[in-house]
Amino acid sequence: EHAAGLDKDTMRLTERRGHLLGASYRLFYRRPVHLVRGRGQYLWDAEGTKYLDVYNNVASIGHCHPAVVEAVHEQMQLLNTHTRYLHEGILDYSESILATTPAEVNRAMYMCTGSEANDLAIRVARAYSGGTGIIVTQEAYHGTSDLTSGASPALGSGQPLAPTTRLVPAPDHYRLNDVDLGDWFAQEIKKQIDGMQADGIRFAGFLADSIFSSDGVLPGDAGFLKKAVDVVHRNGGIFIADEVQPGFARTGEAFWGFARHGVVPDIITTGKPMGNGIPVSGLLARGEVLAAFSDSIPYFNTFGGNPVSMAAAQAVLKVIHEEGLQEHSRVVGARLLAELRTLQDKYECVGDVRGAGLFIGFELVTDRNSKAPDKALALQLIEMLRDERVLTSVAGPYGNILKLRPPLAFQAADIDWLVGALDRGLARLGR
Ligand code: PMP
Repeated sequence: EHAAGLDKDTMRLTERRGHLLGASYRLFYRRPVHLVRGRGQYLWDAEGTKYLDVYNNVASIGHCHPAVVEAVHEQMQLLNTHTRYLHEGILDYSESILATTPAEVNRAMYMCTGSEANDLAIRVARAYSGGTGIIVTQEAYHGTSDLTSGASPALGSGQPLAPTTRLVPAPDHYRLNDVDLGDWFAQEIKKQIDGMQADGIRFAGFLADSIFSSDGVLPGDAGFLKKAVDVVHRNGGIFIADEVQPGFARTGEAFWGFARHGVVPDIITTGKPMGNGIPVSGLLARGEVLAAFSDSIPYFNTFGGNPVSMAAAQAVLKVIHEEGLQEHSRVVGARLLAELRTLQDKYECVGDVRGAGLFIGFELVTDRNSKAPDKALALQLIEMLRDERVLTSVAGPYGNILKLRPPLAFQAADIDWLVGALDRGLARLGR
């Protein structure tokens, strides 16, 4: 053990990163974890120690799921090329994925990352609406490109927002308990539409992650987003549902996050869980909205929609269906939520526990009346959980919310591991 409490292997890899990688990368944990293997909801480090993954929604159907490994392996042996040749894989997948969306959403395009999907979505929204103004929530994250980082206040003050970006406060139902959330949120959006128009900026659209993950995991009551989407449409904008986080059965109640709210997006963007780790993302849109862009502007994404990515994505859909993972997410998520609420009963510092399916926010406060965020406690808890080999992290504008979002294979025994570790952590650090 080194003076800083780090072993030799950790020191060596951390130093190599420092010499080799750009400084923008951030590691999790004071004692970083060196992972070498994964299966289902479990991960193993270089010494063979087993961890419980409560954070990764990319390996959503489980780390290294054999169905995906096999599909990728088989296709890779046969052919991998781009979308300028005919291939059935992309068409078969498009049929499968468009069968999960509202009937109006009937065209698919593919890229490799959520950022690219949102970047294209903003361009399409602008082409269709003739406007440029984009509304996002206060702590939203939508990607790494110039357009998407300019609409990602979560990146902090170092990242300037685009002059055409307007922010609405997040629908924080824990703190906004005196209002009708649906009415309130629709009004906030209307204010921003009016504000941008007063500044001579025409409204193009509202881009939102319907579980408001980076805003602190805010599922809200099913249906509350409906009025907001209506206001967007009445004012000539389009609604882009960023499903990078809540999509692919994550929320349990529905396959898509927006579907909990009974709304029909004009564009759906996808990423993370779509290929269970193979870089594949998508933009699914209403044909007439997409046409405004694609009739005049070509789009080619070298790796997007390639046969190997499509094979991975198809395998993911098949597994979600065959293993009943949406129902599993609903049932196990509800059970986990109930167990976490027993901790809320036990500890004053647990201000709120909320979620949809296996996507849960566990909010820590210094005092339940003021609801003042307790970031320090959240950070200490994350480190303690790591010491108990439970991997998760924090979310929200104050970093005081544990984001619990395990692979969908999460089981009852895993709930015991997680809740037991949290209980011990809170007994030591909490109130
Ligand atoms: N949208 C949301 C809601 C996200 O959480 C992320 C990634 N954290 C992205 C978009 C960007 O996806 P990617 O990192 O694949 O570009």
